[in-house]
Amino acid sequence: MASMLKDWRIELIEAHRGLFCPPAGNPGAALGSPQCEAGWRDLLQRLCVRLEAALGDDERIYLNRIREAVGRLRVSWRGQVMPATISRIHEAIALAEARSACTCELCGELGRLHLVDGVCMTRCVAHARGTPLADESKGNRMHIVRMLRSDGSGYEPRRYDRENDSFVDPAPVEEE
Ligand SMILES: [Zn+2]
Repeated sequence: MASMLKDWRIELIEAHRGLFCPPAGNPGAALGSPQCEAGWRDLLQRLCVRLEAALGDDERIYLNRIREAVGRLRVSWRGQVMPATISRIHEAIALAEARSACTCELCGELGRLHLVDGVCMTRCVAHARGTPLADESKGNRMHIVRMLRSDGSGYEPRRYDRENDSFVDPAPVEEE
């Protein structure tokens, strides 16, 4: 099992060398090697394709860190790019983070946040443990996700369409 999980990470890194910039001969040692389970492989592949498409001809970025935190994907990167590119990068990362919030980290099926012994994790019905947290989805397709604003000034609710892997804006007014 461990070697299988290692393989998907290395495959991802080798398929997107320009983003991961892995050390020669040891792709698994790339800084951005995903620290999450295999259920998020698909959304990470989508992310890498979007990031590559976001870059201009002479622009490069590097993925510093990809990890699970509080049940969701967190991605950090570095690089000098144009402001328009930065907004495309932020949108690509926001889509991946939104998808992680409603995708089982173990198997990739539709999931929701569960609290297990004080730890948050996103799990499908089959892999669920602990207590499910408030269901923010509507009809298993629209998910209200709290996303960090691109200017870092706090969070805003956005409506994520899991079927089409896109945001549907404007988001509804959040009820606290
Ligand atoms: Zn699952």
